Amino acid sequence: MTIQNLAPMLAAASAGGYAVAQFNTDTLEIGQAVLRAAATLRAPVILAIGQGVDRAGRLAPLAAGLRTMAEAAEVPVCLHLDHSESLSQIQRAIQAGFSGIMIDASAHPLAANIEQTRRVLALCAGRNIGVEAELGRVAGVEDDLVVSEDEAGKVGFATVSAFLEKVRPDALAVAVGTAHGLYTRPPEIDFALIRQVRDLGAPPLVLHGGSGLSEEILREAIACGIAKLNFATELRKVCLDALVAAATSQSGFMPALASAADAVTDFAARKLEITGSAGKR
Ligand SMILES: [Zn+2]
Repeated sequence: MTIQNLAPMLAAASAGGYAVAQFNTDTLEIGQAVLRAAATLRAPVILAIGQGVDRAGRLAPLAAGLRTMAEAAEVPVCLHLDHSESLSQIQRAIQAGFSGIMIDASAHPLAANIEQTRRVLALCAGRNIGVEAELGRVAGVEDDLVVSEDEAGKVGFATVSAFLEKVRPDALAVAVGTAHGLYTRPPEIDFALIRQVRDLGAPPLVLHGGSGLSEEILREAIACGIAKLNFATELRKVCLDALVAAATSQSGFMPALASAADAVTDFAARKLEITGSAGKR
């Protein structure tokens, strides 16, 4: 299948009352393992390349490999750039064939966030690329992005409303109490805020920091209007734990990669079932 634009993929999820899962894909093996789960469950899926991959110099080559795999897949796949804060990086991602772009200007004051989101929408217009913006700061650590608990905070409803009056991204991440990384204490998620923003007629909503949230919380978030759920930290941990176990058992390099891929496939399949996206290809 050709690579799919983020915008219609999430619009269908919003309308259908389910969510599409995003998996942060640091290597080809992870992408292949996630696609295996998506194919089995006949679920649309988002493969995201994050800031750590670009820092390591692999944005374009990994994107090329994942695109080749996505084109051979029998389910819709979006190739998404996660947490970009740079227009030049976004231009490189457009050249590399991404079909979703997240502009994270959430560290800036509202007016600058609106301006940057507009610019990225203009860059992506007519190119079949969906744009995700972020409001409020999600706490925690992901790749090179570090947000302390002091800087983080839930976004107010008035801010969301003011933002959407000025700019209309295809998807919107709102800080509602989740955090990047693994939770050290149970998160307090503002489900009422998610519902309120959805009822405002907001674009499809995105929940960052899905790692470590219980099935019950994830299902409740979807019921309130979340249309995209992001998994990064937990997936990396599953992969790394499997590699360490395989290394300890001295099974050899290729078998170790294969057992890590199996663990990732199982993980992705569990999350895809929770999102309700199985069978929605
Ligand atoms: Zn995130």
